[in-house]
Amino acid sequence: MLIKTAEFVMSNSEVAKCPKDVLPEYAFIGRSNVGKSSLINMLTNHKNLAKTSGRPGKTQLINHFLINKNWFLVDLPGYGYAKVSKTAKKKFQKFITDYFEKRQQLVAAFVLVDIRHEPQKIDLEFMEWMGVNAIPFSIIFTKADKLKPKAIERNVEAYTQELLKTWEETPTYFITSSTSSVGRDEVLQNIDITNQE
Ligand code: GDP
Repeated sequence: MLIKTAEFVMSNSEVAKCPKDVLPEYAFIGRSNVGKSSLINMLTNHKNLAKTSGRPGKTQLINHFLINKNWFLVDLPGYGYAKVSKTAKKKFQKFITDYFEKRQQLVAAFVLVDIRHEPQKIDLEFMEWMGVNAIPFSIIFTKADKLKPKAIERNVEAYTQELLKTWEETPTYFITSSTSSVGRDEVLQNIDITNQE
């Protein structure tokens, strides 16, 4: 897919206030600092479309970006930020689950995982929740430039083995790097294909 236009539309803290347009929507979510903003900027070929931040957990908003005037890229807040109170965490969870349960336009989500790390409970639990609620998602491994090919292979294998403990098959996954643009074509192609189904 060629990205011709990418425009910020709005930020929201409530699903009810998200754009009314019935355009197909793809959501990006993951732990704070996983590289989500960098990935969104890399995919859309924009330096600053999504704000990369040195202060993880700061923005707790649903951000809509209109791509090529025919689909929405949705930047969801990063989860798992340790310095957030329990009440804030609960409120946050509700806000995310609300989005996934209510947003009819959602075609699929991309759950971002830092390729350097071992499978984390919070990500596995989130994917489990997505599965139980029948919300289609793929995994995007980020920061692949930080590892050698062998290590990438080893970590992806470890991750898929962990998933196979609870999943019958592993979800589709993509290996990406925002610095080298590895995986860009594959992710965009996946969106293109599912967008036309
Ligand atoms: P977010 O909190 O998930 O939006 O993460 P950011 O996009 O702000 O990235 C967090 C940190 O990881 C920043 O210091 C980025 O420069 C760095 N980062 C993000 N993606 C990559 C990547 O693909 N490769 C490398 N080497 N660093 C990355």
